[in-house]
Amino acid sequence: MNDARLFVISAPSGCGKGTLLGEVFRDSDVFYSISCTTRAPREGEVNGVHYHFITDEKFRDMIAGDEFLEYAEFVKHSYGTPRQPVLDSLSQGRDVILEIETKGAFQIKEKIPEAVLLFILPPSIQEIRRRLNKRGTEKADVIEKRVSEAAGEIAKSYRYDYVIMNDDLADAVRDFKTVYNAAKSGDGSADRFRAGNEDTKKLIDEVLENA
Ligand code: 5GP
Repeated sequence: MNDARLFVISAPSGCGKGTLLGEVFRDSDVFYSISCTTRAPREGEVNGVHYHFITDEKFRDMIAGDEFLEYAEFVKHSYGTPRQPVLDSLSQGRDVILEIETKGAFQIKEKIPEAVLLFILPPSIQEIRRRLNKRGTEKADVIEKRVSEAAGEIAKSYRYDYVIMNDDLADAVRDFKTVYNAAKSGDGSADRFRAGNEDTKKLIDEVLENA
């Protein structure tokens, strides 16, 4: 046994999670799992770095070969976490970060109950729309699908272990590190971010009410 932990991070698209995780883990030795997906690369995305971009057929073969730790469909494309690299890293004592949507996160919690599920809330649904438009990598109809998907994702954040908000980047980095360190040490220093806590529930309610 070692004390390596599996962290599952979920956040609706356009939530600024890429920037946040980049800041938090800049000089860290964590293993960042690279998912497989059947969606096309966006401009600037590199195969084998951001994702393994694969065909539907290859994705089906990997399911048949039981090669995924979890997999799910999201806005008409398939996404999955290759199992072996995650298990290898954990057995080598290295923390693992999965950046996946909610269905996959709950599959992981079922299989590995000690996994820590962290949800990153956007300040509002409007803000997601604004950020996706600004990013400009998706067409208007895809943006609207992702925005409506976001509300459904946020509604599931009540079932996570921890929830933080990415409004101000520096605050979010600090809160993320607080959760990460508390999850590692097992102390209660991040209990104010627990999803079951009344203030956290109110925060989630507010984001959903202002959708
Ligand atoms: P995007 O297309 O914006 O890169 O990702 C869409 C959604 O799929 C995001 O919520 C992202 O976290 C999630 N996702 C990425 N990789 C995986 C994966 O391996 N499994 C699951 N279940 N979701 C993933």
